Amino acid sequence: MTVADIYNQMSLGPAPESPAQVKQWLDSHQRRFGLYINGTWTRPSDESHFSTINPADGSTLAEITQASDSDVDAAVRAARMAYAEWSKTSGHVRARFLYAIARQIQKHARLFAVLESMDNGKPIRESRDIDIPLVIRHFYHHAGWAQIADREFAGYQSVGVCAQIIPWNFPLLMLAWKIAPALAAGNTVVLKPAEWTPLTALLFGEICSAVGLPSGVVNIITGDGRTGAALAKHADVDKVAFTGSTEVGRILRQATADTPKKLSLELGGKSPFVVFADADLDAAVEGVVDAVWFNQGQVCCAGTRLLVDERIAIDFERRLVRRMHTLRVGDPLDKAIDMGAIVAERQRQRIDELVKLGISQGATCHQSPCALPTNGFYYPPTLLSNVEPSAVVAQEEIFGPVIVSMTFRTPSEAIALANNTRYGLAASIWSQNIDTALDVAKQIKAGVVWINSTNVFDAASGFGGYRESGFGREGGREGMYEYLKAVPSGTLATTAPSFALGELRASHLTGIDRTPKLYIGGKQVRPDSGYSRVITSSTGAHLGEVGEGNRKDIRNAVEAARAAASGWANTTAHNRAQILYYIGENLYARANEFAQLLASQRGVSVLHAAQQVEATIQAWFTAAAWADKYDGAVHHTPQRAVVMALPEPIGVMGLVAPDAPSLLGSVALMAPAIAMGNSVVVIPSESAPLGLLELYQVFDTSDVPAGVINIVSGQRNALVKTLAEHGDVDGLWAVGDNALRQHIQQASTSNLKRTWVLDGSDERWLTLPYSEFLRQAVQWKNVWVPYGA
Ligand code: NAD
Repeated sequence: MTVADIYNQMSLGPAPESPAQVKQWLDSHQRRFGLYINGTWTRPSDESHFSTINPADGSTLAEITQASDSDVDAAVRAARMAYAEWSKTSGHVRARFLYAIARQIQKHARLFAVLESMDNGKPIRESRDIDIPLVIRHFYHHAGWAQIADREFAGYQSVGVCAQIIPWNFPLLMLAWKIAPALAAGNTVVLKPAEWTPLTALLFGEICSAVGLPSGVVNIITGDGRTGAALAKHADVDKVAFTGSTEVGRILRQATADTPKKLSLELGGKSPFVVFADADLDAAVEGVVDAVWFNQGQVCCAGTRLLVDERIAIDFERRLVRRMHTLRVGDPLDKAIDMGAIVAERQRQRIDELVKLGISQGATCHQSPCALPTNGFYYPPTLLSNVEPSAVVAQEEIFGPVIVSMTFRTPSEAIALANNTRYGLAASIWSQNIDTALDVAKQIKAGVVWINSTNVFDAASGFGGYRESGFGREGGREGMYEYLKAVPSGTLATTAPSFALGELRASHLTGIDRTPKLYIGGKQVRPDSGYSRVITSSTGAHLGEVGEGNRKDIRNAVEAARAAASGWANTTAHNRAQILYYIGENLYARANEFAQLLASQRGVSVLHAAQQVEATIQAWFTAAAWADKYDGAVHHTPQRAVVMALPEPIGVMGLVAPDAPSLLGSVALMAPAIAMGNSVVVIPSESAPLGLLELYQVFDTSDVPAGVINIVSGQRNALVKTLAEHGDVDGLWAVGDNALRQHIQQASTSNLKRTWVLDGSDERWLTLPYSEFLRQAVQWKNVWVPYGA
């Protein structure tokens, strides 16, 4: 072979990374591991254990303990004991521990990388250059948050003991995403790695001991879904943080529904990869390689739905297939391969079955002809073209190196196809036209959007989904809030009314028979049932009758809110603010009348009612003030990219108001929700709905677009049920008791809507930091725009 031959072929010989250090480490543990609880290792169980396998060749790496219920209990108890001290440890000291962890991982980076590749099957190039560096960065970054937490998160405190359950695709990285923010915020943790990839988490346990982390602050327990279930259910856990499939996410929503546990879910995805005709096509082809053949496609945010402008589809497919044919699949420890092994044979079979199903439903299959190793679990890079948007392979997460392609004609068709999924984790958009790219980015329902790039991550930038991809964010400031809880200040400022109180007294109102209707789509509507409910004063006097709303009314209200949602979300923040000020102003004009009305309903003094009206006017003004001030951010990531964190409305929100304070309680929920661009369906106080119902006349005169605010009065629990179960409601807030919380959390499992139930036992919820209302009213979209001339 001549030098010219070598140059022409450019074929790479094997460049194996040595497994010697990993084998030594495994041998030093006799290849059997116990659990890391309270800073010490339990004896490996003889009775209940399982093997962790090297997917590259099917060999057993080590025996792992299947943690029992009593092990789970011991770990949670250790975390609880440690919490007492750790939560009081200064941010500076917590920062030093996180910094020390980062340093230790850095020092042992090669061991971690090789171990990760052997346990998971991912190419060493990826574990060495992506996973482990990101892990280190995550701990460094969160050391910073710990240092400044007290000042930056005033009004918040740590949550407590966190149960953290992670998947197998990025074992150590997912651990870092969970443990770093939890410790930075002052929580203690019990973490369960996935049963297929527990080894780096166990090595991490050793790091915790090495840096002298107080016992019990981090506990690592191994086992399968049964261990995960026991951990999530444990009564002394305050927060469950889960990354994994939507199916298990739903189970966990259900399992925690009856409890006040805080929950964050990072679930599956079927992310669109959109290529416009003006894209740099070669760059976009490389983008597909990174989107779907990175980590063998076992990436929650993988761009697995390729949407290509019809005009360039043939050209693009040709280029993509050509590039696909150059990919090399092989031993994960070979530095010259592009794709390693699938994590387990069961997973490989599932991928194969789905591909075959796709072909049987009409897809054309292109597979790389590369040679696959004979041992181990390998699958070739695969493209399925001519796929119908409704085909199973276009809808279901395949979680393997398989991309399906479809075409579009116009940007709006591209957006419709991109959003044609129950998921909403990520999207990748390719166009040289920044106008097109940013416009489409805004309209795609996803928590992360990469422009002319894909699968870029950083600790400073939030990551997480919309819709059934879950709720909660990991990374950056957004992620820190998942491990904090807002605390009411407890001091409710009572302001003297700024309006003159008239002569009327409560008793004078008893003769006024009011008959407000429901308020749906900007119209006063009679209830579907045809029934009314009588509202009486505290002395039993007849005050009026309100509509007895039912399921159908709620459905109509949701439909009206949905119809108004995108218009309102796209109204400028300035205009939304104007409308909210206008509501406040118009309420002020009728303030005395509202004060009299409230006084009659509640049987409280007119002055007290007047104070409530005053606070309600101010609530509209405060929300108006914030409408154009709750800014996004530009994150400082190490990449050459502008990463814009944009707060976006959640969509259609249900709001369940408390009985008292009836008017202020409703408006305290409505005003921030609307200010942030959501449209709402409000269930007013059951016993004292008149104030809010009267307010629709104010809305009518304040330019509130039809459908942005809808009010359905009636029997609260029945109405809440319909709202919570409704698949087109994106978020639900309620003020109430434990029973209401359980009811809402249970019923909302179907579409995994975001819920926020405030403790209504007194009025302290009104004194939570205002930022918490705004934060709960938005979901964050992080848009990555790389640059470089
Ligand atoms: P999985 O849901 O099967 O398992 C995830 C974890 O949950 C494992 O540790 C498992 O042991 C545990 N578990 C299983 N059943 C449980 C139960 N009933 N109760 C409690 N815990 C239980 O998911 P997987 O197959 O390991 O991972 C792949 C999935 O993870 C994909 O859907 C992928 O999209 C998703 N994922 C999402 C993100 C994200 O950030 N959104 C990141 C990585 C992976």
